[in-house]
Amino acid sequence: LTSTEESVLEKIESEDVDFLRLQFTDILGTVKNVSVPARQAEKAFTEGIYFDGSSIEGFVRIQESDMRLKPDPETFAILPWRNDEDSAAARMICDVYDTSTGEPFEGDPRYVLKNALERAKEMGYTVNAAPEPEFFLFEEDEEGRATTKTNDAGGYFDLAPKDLASDVRRDIIYGLESMGFEVEASHHEVAEGQHEINFEYDDALTTADNVGTFRTVVRAIAAQHDYHATFMPKPIPKINGSGMHTHLSLFTEDGENAFHDSDDEFDLSDTAHSFLAGILEHAPAITAVANPTVNSYKRLVPGYEAPVYVAWSDRNRSALIRKPAARVPAASRVELRSPDPSCNPYLAIAVMIHAGLNGIENDLECPDPVRENIYEFDEHKREEYGIDTLPSNLGEAVDALEEDEAIYSALGEHVGPKFVEAKRQEFEEYLIDVSQWELDRYLETF
Ligand code: GLN
Ligand code: MG
Ligand code: MG
Ligand code: MG
Repeated sequence: LTSTEESVLEKIESEDVDFLRLQFTDILGTVKNVSVPARQAEKAFTEGIYFDGSSIEGFVRIQESDMRLKPDPETFAILPWRNDEDSAAARMICDVYDTSTGEPFEGDPRYVLKNALERAKEMGYTVNAAPEPEFFLFEEDEEGRATTKTNDAGGYFDLAPKDLASDVRRDIIYGLESMGFEVEASHHEVAEGQHEINFEYDDALTTADNVGTFRTVVRAIAAQHDYHATFMPKPIPKINGSGMHTHLSLFTEDGENAFHDSDDEFDLSDTAHSFLAGILEHAPAITAVANPTVNSYKRLVPGYEAPVYVAWSDRNRSALIRKPAARVPAASRVELRSPDPSCNPYLAIAVMIHAGLNGIENDLECPDPVRENIYEFDEHKREEYGIDTLPSNLGEAVDALEEDEAIYSALGEHVGPKFVEAKRQEFEEYLIDVSQWELDRYLETF
């Protein structure tokens, strides 16, 4: 055993951990659990835990269903909502292996991200990432089912200490901190019932792991308070949706920020400019992965602080990419504003990295920033500035993904086709549905 594995065994002992949840995610980003008694931890490290992969979304066909989970000891954490005096549950995030070859399973999203990081490493970089997940807290009805009713006073949330939702958010933050998160800031978002919690940036793999953990913690603790937390991108029409802005930067092997250059007008290096150009170039294909639900496209409309146009800016927030002000060189970074929290964080971060690295490899020219409010541009002005529009629905986005060889192949031979197949089916189901809007509009008119 490695020393980290040893120290996990010690913690299991000292914290009275009875059960271990071994976690991994499916292609759609849902966290899956296999629960084993904690005394199996050593075996999990040495041999791995076998499971039937045929029941996991997009993993394998029935006839080749044996998978092996190998827990990553760095990800050991006690679950705060299952921690009593003398018994606790803990989780570890796992890598998935194919038992027939003994190799990492290509359909494991964590492996897809590891490949992206490997490519960055070959080019001399490590990748840092920080997400800004937003979510809504809704009340439950008598049967415990989620509603879209909020019970807070909008933007004045923090001035209403008696509000139940503020206790929920506080407990969520305690829960996150007990799982090792460094919460930087949390605030009430623009919309009623909407919240954002920011946590410290980390290497991209840890950040992707953290997003999955974050969603689990937020939902579990909200549920303890009889609230339903949702990461659905646009639960209520005509008010802001929930995004997951993602900040990215590359560091060199000596720990220097490769994105920083104080001689540049924007404090961004040539490397950063090319990375940014790569993301702009591949933006439509990235959208399929970073905005993977039908509902994602109800958020990407003008007027609600969500991006619609493929441009970057150092000032305004209507652009797809923003260059946030950095107080120290280490903080120079780019912020992609399109992702939403319904995405699979491993796949979304992987395609952003590949797009950026393509930009660097091909020395792509970065366009000028757009400093005006692009929501207010008409078509002619957008054309004059050479500004494209993001895909306007899931179908268009999936087409763009399939047409973009570089991004599609970045997902790997397993995940690419499975993802496209699942998303096409989702979009087709949506197209043939008849919505409440249609009934309201037409039922009595015709
Ligand atoms: N909720 C907005 C979005 O959909 C972002 C608002 C903000 O963080 N300024 O992206
Ligand atoms: Mg924010
Ligand atoms: Mg926000
Ligand atoms: Mg932001």
